Amino acid sequence: MPRAFITGITGQDGQHLAEFLHSKGYEVFGMVKGQNNPKLTAMRDEFPYVEPVPGDLADLPSLLKALESTQPDEVYNLGAISFVALSFNQAELTANITGLGVLRMLEAVRMVGGATNNPIRFYQASSSEMFGKVREIPQTERTPFHPRSPYGCAKVFGHDITVNYRESYGLYACSGILFNHEGPRRGLEFVTRKVTNAVARIKLGLQEELVLGNLDFKRDWGYAGDYVKAMWLMLQQDEPDDYVVATGETHSGEELVRLAFEEAGIDDWQRYVRQDQKFFRPAEVDLLIGDPAKAQDKLGWKREVDFPSLVKMMVENDLRIESARR
Ligand code: GDP
Repeated sequence: MPRAFITGITGQDGQHLAEFLHSKGYEVFGMVKGQNNPKLTAMRDEFPYVEPVPGDLADLPSLLKALESTQPDEVYNLGAISFVALSFNQAELTANITGLGVLRMLEAVRMVGGATNNPIRFYQASSSEMFGKVREIPQTERTPFHPRSPYGCAKVFGHDITVNYRESYGLYACSGILFNHEGPRRGLEFVTRKVTNAVARIKLGLQEELVLGNLDFKRDWGYAGDYVKAMWLMLQQDEPDDYVVATGETHSGEELVRLAFEEAGIDDWQRYVRQDQKFFRPAEVDLLIGDPAKAQDKLGWKREVDFPSLVKMMVENDLRIESARR
């Protein structure tokens, strides 16, 4: 039975990846930080096959212990301070966890190593936020980075140090540059889920308005369930490499809002939406659109869920959840 160790197990991608690897016959270990972590209880209920392992990305000895005790074949580093808006307020924490955390994980992988004929394979969750103020359209593996937030800056460090450890120490280390990926498990603070949840609540008469920040932005949004397959595929190749994972399409914030309201049968969406400065960011990422050609050609990966189906899936899920709460 192959063994996978996942950081960020309680987040959206950790959950999708755990489910996917379990279906592939993996033994799945998930790193959980802190004591009495409330997310651990929820995880035990929904994913009884995931074995929790204590550890923290801020603490190298704990990472060493976690890898020594689990002896994984594959390590997926999905743990991070992952919300761009929060990273502006807690920039140092973001640099420490989202940036230096990658270095600590790589160091632990290097020191524990794995069997000579089966060294540990490492996946780093890099992000399209590294492109920020984009230097070319569409963005590829060769597009220069220009991050626009402390989160983006920390992810650039994580990406670069992953490439550096591969080149310096011959680690099998891959960096997946994933564009925004969403789904019913997305946290309510991210714009897609904030919108679909508010639409459901407005439809059910539980909420009167949806307050947002800047809507003049474009994102390449895909479905998280599709994207975790690309992570796994990267670690099954003969050679480690870096890949952009994206849909190759971009959609505006306004399009997202309109589609979500339409999905709930509400046509006059402008009536319900208000903008507030408090949700604007000090610097914005205006346009992201990735070119997934390399992932398609070399990994045989392709997205299955398109943007309208993703919005539909999320609105239907929120209608279900909010109806049950009424
Ligand atoms: P990001 O691409 O990782 O920053 O993902 P988000 O879902 O947090 O934000 C996507 C875009 O939505 C950004 O350009 C935000 O400025 C914009 N946006 C506008 N209003 C909101 C809001 O109320 N919440 C969030 N999270 N984003 C918003």
